[in-house]
Amino acid sequence: MPCVALPKISVVIPVHNESANIAPLCDALVPVLNRISSLWEIVFVDDGSRDDTLERIKARNREEPRISAVSFSRNFGKEIAIAAGLDHARGEAVVIMDADLQHPPEMIETFVQRWQEGYLMVYGQRTDRSDETRIKRNFAHLFYRLFSTFGEVPLPEGAGDFRLIDRKGVEVLRMLGEKARFSKGLYAWIGFRSTGVPFVVGDRKFGNSKWNFRQLFRFAFDGIASFSSIPLRVWTYVGTLISILSIATALYFAIRTLLFGTDLPGFPSLIVSVMFFSGIQLMSLGVIGEYIGRIFAEVKRRPLYVVAERIGGAAEISSSLVNEDYQRFRRV
Ligand code: UDP
Ligand code: MG
Repeated sequence: MPCVALPKISVVIPVHNESANIAPLCDALVPVLNRISSLWEIVFVDDGSRDDTLERIKARNREEPRISAVSFSRNFGKEIAIAAGLDHARGEAVVIMDADLQHPPEMIETFVQRWQEGYLMVYGQRTDRSDETRIKRNFAHLFYRLFSTFGEVPLPEGAGDFRLIDRKGVEVLRMLGEKARFSKGLYAWIGFRSTGVPFVVGDRKFGNSKWNFRQLFRFAFDGIASFSSIPLRVWTYVGTLISILSIATALYFAIRTLLFGTDLPGFPSLIVSVMFFSGIQLMSLGVIGEYIGRIFAEVKRRPLYVVAERIGGAAEISSSLVNEDYQRFRRV
């Protein structure tokens, strides 16, 4: 095994069916990294691609050993792929970026400058979201509003996964073993001196974005639920309010009956109220279920991901099938 100096910069790139993007990405990224230092590495995390993404990475690795990869046994999702990338990256600073060239590689130079000025976390902050549909933009905005009101930690708007994290931060992130990972929240939670660098998100080079609306909603809910218990507690207030309302209604009916006697009509309002309250009850049960589901996922103590294959430098870390470090942490 060649013993080389540890890289200064690691670039972690989660990839899922990105075959056509590997070559243009490497061609754009490598010169930028060489300008910064010769001690760099690229760690691709192949998140269960079904096309020839992994073969393309292997071909690159044969030409350039500083390009390595970890390949999952199936698709685990981008958030988990990032976690695996952080586990395998060895650099003093780790940059996380997408494979589709939406994150301009030249920005890494600015990130590194900032890092050398003493910021332990430097994030790219997208200045406009005009490439997205209006409805998606509005949802994103609503999400940030909700998160900043109810979440544990403030989330800088427009900051995504494109960022540089110092080794200190990486080690802390690796200790956070939660399954429902909401990286943006985790980055904010670990703290450290951070700064944003504005950038314009380019167009996706090849292929399509893999997010559909349902996944985005799921992602947003994961975000809120991992960093706030408001959805659980809000039912106390809703319940209290409804109880007060029902007492008031009961009083109203009692007085009305005393004054004017009874009459049978009122069937529609009865049905409406029964439906309304059963709806509320099911909803609140559902929210409780969401949290119990999360607790269930955590107590099962499954490893975050399963590695099928390691290519290049990343293989030096460990040769077992599962992420040992994670398990070691869970046993403590
Ligand atoms: N990705 C992944 N696993 C997935 C979905 C996406 O590793 O299950 C990767 C994908 O290959 C890309 C990055 O995550 O490098 C961002 O994905 P995408 O461009 O689809 O998302 P968007 O840019 O629309 O947020
Ligand atoms: Mg993209």
